[in-house]
Amino acid sequence: MKYHIVTYGCQMNKNDSRRIMHLFDLSGFVEASEEEADFIIVNACSVRGRVVDKIRGKINNIPKEKTLILTGCVLESDMKEMREKFDYILKIKNLHQWHKKIKQLKKITGGKDYFQIEAKREKPTAHVPVMTGCDNFCSYCAVPYVRGRERSRPAEEIISETSELVEKGFKEIWLLGQNVNSYNKGKKPDFPDLLEKVNNLKGDFWIRFTSSHPKDFSDKLIEKMKNCEKVTDYLNLPLQSGDDEMLKKMNRPYNIEQYRKIVDKIRKEIPGITLSTDIIVGFPGETKKAFLNTKKILKEIRFDMAYIARYSPRPETKATQMEDNITDKEKKERAKELTAVLKKTALEKNRSKLGKKVRFLAYDSGKKSTTGKTEGYKTIKVEGGLKEGEFYKAEVVEATSFGLKGKLIKND
Ligand code: SF4
Repeated sequence: MKYHIVTYGCQMNKNDSRRIMHLFDLSGFVEASEEEADFIIVNACSVRGRVVDKIRGKINNIPKEKTLILTGCVLESDMKEMREKFDYILKIKNLHQWHKKIKQLKKITGGKDYFQIEAKREKPTAHVPVMTGCDNFCSYCAVPYVRGRERSRPAEEIISETSELVEKGFKEIWLLGQNVNSYNKGKKPDFPDLLEKVNNLKGDFWIRFTSSHPKDFSDKLIEKMKNCEKVTDYLNLPLQSGDDEMLKKMNRPYNIEQYRKIVDKIRKEIPGITLSTDIIVGFPGETKKAFLNTKKILKEIRFDMAYIARYSPRPETKATQMEDNITDKEKKERAKELTAVLKKTALEKNRSKLGKKVRFLAYDSGKKSTTGKTEGYKTIKVEGGLKEGEFYKAEVVEATSFGLKGKLIKND
């Protein structure tokens, strides 16, 4: 029996796909192309858009004899709409019970708990979940409804899994969770303590983490990021809006001044850190003035990267009770304006790396060139083929808004 998995959404979903793959592999199934597979699993995401819209075209082209399974961060309302199209709809939070639920797949062995189901991984990057779910209920977000409340994973389990991964040669460890900063809800070990524990593992590897919430971003975390040499100088800190009123409506309990202070502190303690953010444009009631406040803060903070999303209502969330009063045309226009700001600041940031020596991890290597990521998570391209999954050094010789070009430094 062969299977194929199609994944939509964030890193957490991608990691879940790897867990699903591990379950199938364990049971003797073989991963295959979409055409060859007997089972097609769609791991979808309702968080940023309607599942139905995303996958309708995709599944219409799949021959009827294949068994179709839908899972992922999918809202009840989306599931209902998809019921007829799929043979099975399975909740991702019940992944450990899949083997009981699907007769045709009864050979699949399950883990005892979500966290104990391993993920199938490809070097050099491994994602390690540290918590799942979310208690924050941002008014636009479906995660608390589809993944449930926050649940932290025991630190010993995280350390032991990471240690094994490092021994196997993984060089980039992403600690994952919807809100990693509230790991263990502040009890010992909290997230900064956890970072330190992972950092203390032997080996040459990098640590990255996502997602962070500004309300839980502590001075202690900044201190650990600064002092733990394996924690990379990269941070994604979602802002969502540059307007205090909009933040209140989004149920994001911080204001612009507090966000600014975190950025100032982090840039003071870790100069040169790569800073990225997430922004939503066209949230209900976002006036022109509120939008311009976002544009202003983007110009002021000068992010290296921003993931800009146009608001779309998610059923079951609080924001659906608000009038979605910004037209699609206006949302597109606003996103375009912010992208223009971002392109300028990203170019400026990347240019500041010119002439500097950077360490990078080789991801993809061809005969003529190799692409990788720097410690600050910038894409870098160097001439020549290199061994994938190894660290190298390069001098930055060219910069665009989207990445760097480097000259390999040999024997450094
Ligand atoms: S913090 Fe907000 S945006 Fe992030 S997962 Fe939780 S509810 Fe969603």
